[in-house]
This record gives sequence, C-alpha cells and structure tokens, in this order.
Amino acid sequence: MASNQQWQDQAACRKISVELFFPPAEQESEVAKTVCSDCLVRQPCLEFALAEGERFGIWGGLTSQERRSLAAKRRKTRLISPSAPETAPSYLG
Ligand code: SF4
Repeated sequence: MASNQQWQDQAACRKISVELFFPPAEQESEVAKTVCSDCLVRQPCLEFALAEGERFGIWGGLTSQERRSLAAKRRKTRLISPSAPETAPSYLG
C-alpha cells in the first residue's frame, strides 16, 4: 500500500504479507477482513482508498466491490442532501 500517509504507521497489516489483502477472488477476503476488523486505522484507510479510487484489494475492511457500493451510496446521499455531513458508515462501529 504505497503512500506516505501517517496512519499507515499504525496499520494492523504492516507486517503481514500484502498478498493477503489482494486475494485472487473477493470471496477469499475473509482473513484480510478479520485483520482489518481489529485495525486502529480502519477508517482513514478506507477513506484513503475511496479518495484514491483504489480499484483492487481489501482496504478499510472492504473489498473493491463493497467500496464501489459505498461510494455510490455516498454520492446518492449527497445528491439528495448536498449539505449533509459526512459520517462514518454504521458498520464500522
Ligand atoms: S484497515 Fe485493513 S488494509 Fe487498512 S491499514 Fe488496517 S489492516 Fe491494513
């Protein structure tokens, strides 16, 4: 995960093989998602992936398909209420 974002210093995946986070099929993402579920920087990781349009891999505990779905949901919410504050997805706790 290339970038010099400060949050990455606290990433739970820092010392885990990056391959785990780029499984050949999204159905094989459960182990990575388990790591993400305990990660202190899950939210900034997810926001980074969304902002950068990361198309592959598990970021912030979400697959690329789940991130696309979340991004679409956010766009739709902004269209309905452009002044609505951004909030963390409820499933992130
Ligand atoms: S949320 Fe997952 S992919 Fe992101 S830094 Fe944490 S462990 Fe790594």
